[in-house]
Amino acid sequence: MKIEVLRIGTRLVRDDRVTTHVTLVSRAFGASKIYMYDANPDIKETISKVNKMWGSDFKVEIIENWKDVVRLKKKESFKIVHLTMYGENINAVQDDIRKEEKILIIVGAEKVPREAYDMSDYNVAIGNQPHSEISALAILLDRILQGQYLEKKYSDGEREIVPTKKGKNVITKTTNSVD
Ligand code: SAM
Repeated sequence: MKIEVLRIGTRLVRDDRVTTHVTLVSRAFGASKIYMYDANPDIKETISKVNKMWGSDFKVEIIENWKDVVRLKKKESFKIVHLTMYGENINAVQDDIRKEEKILIIVGAEKVPREAYDMSDYNVAIGNQPHSEISALAILLDRILQGQYLEKKYSDGEREIVPTKKGKNVITKTTNSVD
């Protein structure tokens, strides 16, 4: 399944740390690209360093108009999945979402415009209590991909972690080292 993420909504204070975490969760849990606006452009450099060190070609695109992205993705046959505490419970819709070939996941910041609800094919709640876009996104991706992505390995990174019971074992491709 092809998965992309769109972050929308206005904040009184820009929160670069949450933006970075939403982006890292998207990359680590199986999406291939994130679109965002009103973001610090340094995020592109940050993710490019992560890709170089740990592999993958996850993409970040800074956009002007989120509705244009939704319209374009609909033309490309993506289904739109909007994460909101007011939506249908994930337990009820996860089987249907898993059958889709391409999805664009919309996550909000503070205030999400009404159009996001109307333009979406699925308005999905990770429970009907308020929490955060980082946790909602992580749980949705894990439910859709059913944990498969957690075993993903990349051959194009400078480093690779060898899971160990204690300590850190990191292969730097030519030598084994502990740092
Ligand atoms: N009142 C907002 C709402 O509609 O979900 C909560 C805002 S929360 C700070 C920011 C974003 O986190 C939301 O736009 C939504 O994408 C996500 N989120 C928070 N709680 C959620 C939940 N229970 N289910 C799904 N998404 C949630």
